[in-house]
Amino acid sequence: MKSKDLVSLIILLSFTSCSVLHKNLTNLNKTKWIHGTGDCKNNIDPPIQIVQLNYNTWVLRQNKCINYEAPFLFLFLGNKKALLMDTGATEDENKFPLYATVRKIIDNWEKKSGIKVSLVVAHTHAHSDHTAADGQFKNKENTTVAGLTVEEVTSFFKIENWPLKNSTIDLGDRILEIIPIPGHQDASVAVYDYETKILLSGDSFYPGRLYIHDWLSFKLSIERLTEFTTNHTISYLLGNHIEMTNQPGKDYPTGTTFQPFEHILPLKVRDLKELNKALIKIGDKPQYEVHHSFIIYPK
Ligand SMILES: [Zn+2]
Ligand SMILES: [Zn+2]
Repeated sequence: MKSKDLVSLIILLSFTSCSVLHKNLTNLNKTKWIHGTGDCKNNIDPPIQIVQLNYNTWVLRQNKCINYEAPFLFLFLGNKKALLMDTGATEDENKFPLYATVRKIIDNWEKKSGIKVSLVVAHTHAHSDHTAADGQFKNKENTTVAGLTVEEVTSFFKIENWPLKNSTIDLGDRILEIIPIPGHQDASVAVYDYETKILLSGDSFYPGRLYIHDWLSFKLSIERLTEFTTNHTISYLLGNHIEMTNQPGKDYPTGTTFQPFEHILPLKVRDLKELNKALIKIGDKPQYEVHHSFIIYPK
């Protein structure tokens, strides 16, 4: 090979690997999450684990030793706005420095990209294990925090005809779709990112106990969400918690702060189809039912 050809090849390869890097996502089926310890007093894990999914998307997990719920949080960056979905289970920034963590990620990204973004904080739903640190973001410069009621969520995302119509939010060359899915909680939404193709399903669908507060609404929401997945490519279906072990149908008890053998975070579209089918089969009378990767858990 001539040296000129070699140079062209190297340039070509470096471009290829760049675009592959941008397109390929971190393998969340293999990600090792912090999962607490038997002795939380001596836990040395960080309060928040940061996993970068691609160049403009992050998945965060709260340490189980700070709060056993150990929720997952999601940060999306566009060319105009950053969107943080959820603020975790702990208010105190000394124990759980979420604002500082998110700010640092955004600051680094702004430095690299040369773009300044404003920060939008919204929620998969209103439960306190996903909204506790809202106060860390309120009254901060260039930051908006969405409200928690159905009225506030519909007006924030400009959703017409809740819960039947989806809406979109544009972060600047980055569109996300907001899908109303009440049932676990009245103001629950799912979020689909057209760039990474991840679908956030909140507490409505994750490897754990799917607590259902409004059975009929939940059934219809899961039906609509399932339909959405048949029309869209899904890279990962990501919920807010892990409560299942890696043994089929076996969950960790509520309040567990050490989960050495937990289920992986992503669920599959076929798991969602399995839930949808089960709900249809059960009918209108709420019923507890254990599946391999989730438990139907009417409240
Ligand atoms: Zn919840
Ligand atoms: Zn939750």
